[in-house]
Amino acid sequence: MEEIPESSSTLQKQTKLENLCKRAILNSRQENQGFLEVILRKKHIQYLLTGIRSLPSSFGSLDASRPWICYWILHGLEVLEGLPPASDPLYHDIVQFLARCQHPQGGFGGGPGQVPHLAPTYAAVSALSIIGTDEALGIIDRTRLRDFLYAMRTPEGAFRMQADGEVDVRGVYCAIDVASICGLMEPELVRGTADWILRCQTYEGGFGGAPGNEAHGGYTFCGVAGLCLLAGLCGCDDPNLVCGSHPEVDPFGGMSTLDIDALMGWLSRRQQTIEGGFSGRTNKLVDACYSFWQGGAAVVTTLLYRLLMSIPAWRDRVLMVDVPPLVMSAESAALSAERVAAGKEEARRRTEEGAVEAGRCQGEWLFDQRCLAEYIVRCCQSATGGVADKPEVPRDYYHTNYGLSGLALTQHCSETGVCLGRFRRSVDQTPGGKVNNHEDADAESEGWEEEEEVSGARNPEDLFMLHAVDPVFGLAPEKVDRAKAFFKAMPALPPRRV
Ligand SMILES: [Zn+2]
Repeated sequence: MEEIPESSSTLQKQTKLENLCKRAILNSRQENQGFLEVILRKKHIQYLLTGIRSLPSSFGSLDASRPWICYWILHGLEVLEGLPPASDPLYHDIVQFLARCQHPQGGFGGGPGQVPHLAPTYAAVSALSIIGTDEALGIIDRTRLRDFLYAMRTPEGAFRMQADGEVDVRGVYCAIDVASICGLMEPELVRGTADWILRCQTYEGGFGGAPGNEAHGGYTFCGVAGLCLLAGLCGCDDPNLVCGSHPEVDPFGGMSTLDIDALMGWLSRRQQTIEGGFSGRTNKLVDACYSFWQGGAAVVTTLLYRLLMSIPAWRDRVLMVDVPPLVMSAESAALSAERVAAGKEEARRRTEEGAVEAGRCQGEWLFDQRCLAEYIVRCCQSATGGVADKPEVPRDYYHTNYGLSGLALTQHCSETGVCLGRFRRSVDQTPGGKVNNHEDADAESEGWEEEEEVSGARNPEDLFMLHAVDPVFGLAPEKVDRAKAFFKAMPALPPRRV
């Protein structure tokens, strides 16, 4: 008879990773006297800056993702408050490069001369919004971009990534994100789109790439962020844009089919008990990029939930969330208890020292913010800068950006400057963005002392804080506002030739 293995290779990998994370968490706690927010800010900034002008030949496979690299690096720097000063010629060079990626027929390709594709279009518009100057935003050819978006639209209201390319919820999110920023959201463009997104929700509660596919963190982010954009949470408050199909019947139209309980349960269960970070799918390993994809989806879902619950017609049909308790092993329960005790101890010390209480937004979102922060800070930060997917894996720009963006989500809540639409508070920064001079970025120091040195005259509570990230757009909130205002002030486009 065939022998049944005691443990599958998947389980072995999971156990190995849990042990690695446990060791990293406990060692880092000891080394840093229990303080959590030891962000190697200068080293991350240095690492990101080295990739902006030239990359090693090993990046050849990313030749069709060059606007993405611009976005990952610029946004990573923004989150770290480490963007070079506005006078740096770097910005002009990036703008000119992205202008060369713009296709004569609209949209952006993955590099100069490449066919337009919705993913690099999203990345290019996001990178230009971070730069935020008139020169940067002014290179976007809105008329042609609108043509490109309509050309990618399917009769059902979904979007294909490129001509003859695949139709999936990434395409939908990328299309309506850039339409929203560039003032191109119009009922005809998004008719049926919310209903199509909702068809991607699976029996598990998350969203797949297309109807019938397995629930996945990246697609779930695209789905819920897309619904938020369509629901007018991000300033697109034309009631006709709320839902493609039945705006006259119900302000949330087909969104009544959203199973928000299942969605919240699925998102919560993707946070790994021991590692603290998120996995992308059921039974997959933890990965730092999901700190933003799943974390962002959880933040957006929380805000969507609050909004829906404020509408009486919705309140009646939405059941209260009832996530079953996790069944934990004795070991996991002990680690959990230890984490709670460490958090309390840290909060006490911080309060005594007059600094900010640790984890002040703990409990705001649908996940354990402190555990997620621990995973990113203690398990994924590279000692030489940058963030890796998981321990013992090399760092990269993608995971650096999304790891730090996820960390920023754990630090900010709707009371402290994040958020979308009606939840967004005023941000005390000028359009064009506050940029820090980081002349001393090459100084050699790290850890707690480094952060005190860097911070200078800043408030103690800012010592460890990253810049807020708008969870729908993946940009600093003030950069979203600035870009939208820029395009709103432009003359209306002539009617589209059909
Ligand atoms: Zn990843």
